[in-house]
This record gives sequence, structure tokens and C-alpha cells, in this order.
Amino acid sequence: MENEVCIFCKITKGEIPCYKVFEDNNFLAFLDITPKNKGHTLLIPKKHYRWVWEVEEDYSKVSNKIANALKKTFATDWVVSFVMGQDVPHAHIHFVPRFDETDGHGPLIDISKTVNLSKEEMEDIAKKIQDSLE
Ligand code: AMP
Ligand code: ZN
Repeated sequence: MENEVCIFCKITKGEIPCYKVFEDNNFLAFLDITPKNKGHTLLIPKKHYRWVWEVEEDYSKVSNKIANALKKTFATDWVVSFVMGQDVPHAHIHFVPRFDETDGHGPLIDISKTVNLSKEEMEDIAKKIQDSLE
């Protein structure tokens, strides 16, 4: 089921562009446009669900794939994932690579902080993550 006003459904349908990282029959992963760190990725089911806990397709295998690609791309074992869903009402998991405690956040991610990246940098990051997918 899709939702006509949902921005992530529009991304799934290709009506709004995204920096795509991965796609299969059920899921799509793309860079968050206000990244909390380089490589901040959102993983969404293609089908519209309001909440992550409603998603019927298997989220775990594909989450593992995305997290591993981020680990490889950024040479870190520290990939934080979280779910908020306060802004966009389409299920999504956030994946944020961490580098060290001076990467703009402290020991915990400061959700008010974002990094500014150009279109070219975002394209380059998305390509590197795609190339690290196994
Ligand atoms: P939340 O629903 O609270 O988990 O936050 C939604 C997230 O989606 C935020 O981090 C936004 O920066 C991100 N976001 C909103 N619109 C887009 C978009 N068009 N492309 C990529 N990320 C987006
Ligand atoms: Zn949707």
C-alpha cells in the first residue's frame, strides 16, 4: 500500500530524488538529507507502514547488510542505529557511522547536530557505500 502524500513513498516511486545506497524488492536505503554524520543512511520498506514495528518484511537481514557496508566504507565498527519516526510517517531505521568521540558528537549522538555535505560529497558517499555492499 502506498500513501499519496508520504515523502518516502514518493522517493520509492522515483518522484523525488534520493542518494540511493541499496535497493531490493522490499527495501530501499538512501542517505539522510540532514546527516548526523557522514554516511547517515535510512532504510525503509518500499511498502508504506507508519511504524517500524508494523513492517511485515524481514528487516534484520537487510539491516545487517547496510550496517556492514557502512562499517566497511568508513573503517569503523561503530554504527549506531535508531528509530524515531517523529517527522516522516513512513517506517525507517537510521544508521549513523561514528568515527570517534570528537566526530561532532560525544559518546552519544547529539540529535540536534548535523554535518553539511555538498551534493557531490553525498553522491560520492552513496557510491562508496554501494561499492561496499556484500
Ligand atoms: P524521523 O521521522 O524523526 O526519524 O526523521 C526523519 C528523517 O528523515 C530526518 O533525519 C530527515 O533528515 C530525513 N529526511 C526527510 N526528508 C528526506 C528526504 N527527502 N531524503 C532523505 N532524508 C530525508
Ligand atoms: Zn510512505
